[in-house]
Amino acid sequence: MGLMKKIFNSLFLKELFKGMSVTGRYMFARKITVQYPEEKTPQSFRFRGLHALRRYPNGEERCIACKLCEAVCPAMAIVIESEERVDTNGQTSRRTSRYDIDLTKCIFCGFCEEACPVDAIVETRIFEYHGEKRGDLYYTKPMLLANGDKYEAQIAADRELDSKYR
Ligand code: SF4
Ligand code: SF4
Repeated sequence: MGLMKKIFNSLFLKELFKGMSVTGRYMFARKITVQYPEEKTPQSFRFRGLHALRRYPNGEERCIACKLCEAVCPAMAIVIESEERVDTNGQTSRRTSRYDIDLTKCIFCGFCEEACPVDAIVETRIFEYHGEKRGDLYYTKPMLLANGDKYEAQIAADRELDSKYR
């Protein structure tokens, strides 16, 4: 009986028609494929992308060189060196003289931004970046500050939204 069924199915191409029916069904179904990069999927305001160092509105760096982000980073991707420095308001404070993140080590866990007491290091929504040679993904302090300056409006809006859910 089993053999007869097999011969019958094979003779009348049952498997082929079964497959074609699936193709036909999806031909008229709603399309869910996104034509990237012209189209993009929605992004969460908590998206963890490219890192940035933020400043206060007066231009002063937020980072106080407490090194909590460096300590908490499971990938040991952050390297910080600090120094004493006079701020714009004339006060002596502790600031970073070096703040590097090796993005080839980073696993984008978000621990650094969670640990930061002053919201200085953050992960932006930016994911379209790349490196073409060794060292391109080694982000130094000036590069991270430049990211912060460039995307501050989006970062501030996302942080504001995030605070409503905490
Ligand atoms: S996102 Fe995670 S792995 Fe990357 S630098 Fe921050 S703490 Fe380290
Ligand atoms: S980025 Fe934040 S956690 Fe890291 S050293 Fe600066 S203030 Fe501390």
